[in-house]
This record gives sequence, C-alpha cells and structure tokens, in this order.
Amino acid sequence: MIPTHIVADLHSHSTASDGTLLPTEVVTRAAGNDVDILALTDHDTTAGLDEAYCSANDNRIRLIPGIELSATWQGRLLHIIGLDIDPEHPPLKEGIRMLTMMRESRAVEMGKRLARAGYTNTYENARRLAGDGNITRTHFARYLIEIGAAKDFTDVFKRFLVRGKPGYYHVNWSSMEDAVAWITSAGGIAVIAHPLRYKLTANWLNRILTAFRETGGEGMEVVCGRNTPDDNVRSALFARKHGLLASQGSDFHEPGKWVELGKLAQLPDGMIPVWQHWMPR
Ligand code: AMP
Ligand code: MN
Ligand code: MN
Ligand code: MN
Repeated sequence: MIPTHIVADLHSHSTASDGTLLPTEVVTRAAGNDVDILALTDHDTTAGLDEAYCSANDNRIRLIPGIELSATWQGRLLHIIGLDIDPEHPPLKEGIRMLTMMRESRAVEMGKRLARAGYTNTYENARRLAGDGNITRTHFARYLIEIGAAKDFTDVFKRFLVRGKPGYYHVNWSSMEDAVAWITSAGGIAVIAHPLRYKLTANWLNRILTAFRETGGEGMEVVCGRNTPDDNVRSALFARKHGLLASQGSDFHEPGKWVELGKLAQLPDGMIPVWQHWMPR
C-alpha cells in the first residue's frame, strides 16, 4: 500500500563533512523523527554513505545516496545537490577528489589569513575538528567560537568567514555544468540547493535557473531548512516557471541548531515532488 503522506528529508549532513553526528546517528535520528525517505548529502563527499546504508537497513528507512556539490557560476557560489547517485561512478569520484583537494588547500590559505589577523593554528584546529571528513568553513567557525573569538555562528561568519573578511579565501569550485554532468552521468538528479540563500535578484535567479535547466538540472529545493512560509511560496513560483521538480530538505547539521531532521512544511500545492517515484520501505 502506498502511504498517503510520505515524510522526505533530502538534505542532511554528517561527520563526513560539517555535520556533528555520525552517518549512523543521522539515520537513527531521522527514523526517530518519522522520516520515510532520507538523503545524506555531505559537502563534496559520499564517504558517509556506506555507514548510513547499514543503519538505514536496521531502521527501516529509505536512504537515497546523495551529495552537495560546491559549484561556481559566473563567480557566484552555488550548491548543487545530487540525489540517487551512483557514488562509484568514475567521473563523479574524480570530481569529488578534486573538490576535496580544493577544500584542503583553501583551508590552509584560510589558516594563513587568520594568522595574519592574529588567530594562529586555526587550520590545524579546524582540521582536528573535521576528523576524517571534508574540511569546511563550519569547522573554522566552531574553533573560532570555541576560543571565544566570536559568540555564535552568525557572528563568526559575518566577522571572519565571508568575502572581504580575514578568514575568507575565494576559490572557484567546479563549474555548474561539470557538477550537473557528474551527477546526471552517475544516474542522479541534480537539484539546486536553497535558491533563496544566495541573495540574488529575481533576474539573476531566473538566469541561473535557466542555465541550470539547460545543462540538465531537474530540481530545485522549494521547502528548505531556514525558509519562511513566504519563501516556500516564492520558491514554488520559480520552480513552476522553470519546470523544475520540487525537493525539500532540512539541511540538518547538528541537534539544536537551525532545523531538525524531517521537520519541514508541506510542499505548496501543484508541485511535482522530486521523490515522486521513490517508495518508502
Ligand atoms: P564551505 O562549503 O566550506 O564554504 O562552508 C559552507 C557551510 O558553512 C554551509 O554549508 C553552512 O553549513 C555553513 N554556513 C555558511 N554561512 C553560514 C552562516 N551565516 N551561519 C551558519 N553557518 C553558515
Ligand atoms: Mn554545511
Ligand atoms: Mn548548502
Ligand atoms: Mn547543506
């Protein structure tokens, strides 16, 4: 029997990148929150998926293998989610290898810049906090908060980690075209993550969505973590205008911060869910 209401959360992070929970813990927590279909989408890595699969079997939750790729389009940062990818597909693996190296060398540069601003050994400490996972700005943020350089995430990003600030180091990630091609050639669906978080004008967003669609992108996050109800409605209009499937995800990183796994508003009426063909277990 097909359940009438499926809870899908198609954007989440684990210790494989900047989440604080192990992949197994993310899955167990999602199951506890009655999530039927979960995608683990770590930044530029699929390293958490094997572990997540074991836990998904135990918890009777449908796990969609995913990733959140860092991309650049006309100098702007874009996050592109790949859903239902084959993580062993060679071009995707090569893209992941390249992005992971870029993350590491960017982090070293961030450390040098922060040292010039008087904050020493931030790379070493961010690296420690990242464990075996991909290093991100979030790890620098956690360390800077730990040493009292900033009071919270909002504060630390605003003062240290965004363009023009001492810990920011610009890199051009993969092109949008490459990121979409790696995902689609790996059998996946490419979804633009949190489109309203890029602070773009409607014109720019339309341009990006047009280009994304033309290169083979199929979906857009309509309901996501930090959206207001108005944001959801606005996103739905963009999705419809561009003929994009609707995705939804919490962008969960850690308990007690931002949005909890599976706690999402319903998709606005008339949207075609990206998970339309995926059955819960
Ligand atoms: P990176 O991909 O290494 O540039 O790091 C980006 C990550 O930093 C995002 O995925 C978020 O988890 C986090 N992040 C970015 N901006 C903020 C912010 N203003 N507050 C909290 N976390 C943020
Ligand atoms: Mn993140
Ligand atoms: Mn993102
Ligand atoms: Mn994310």
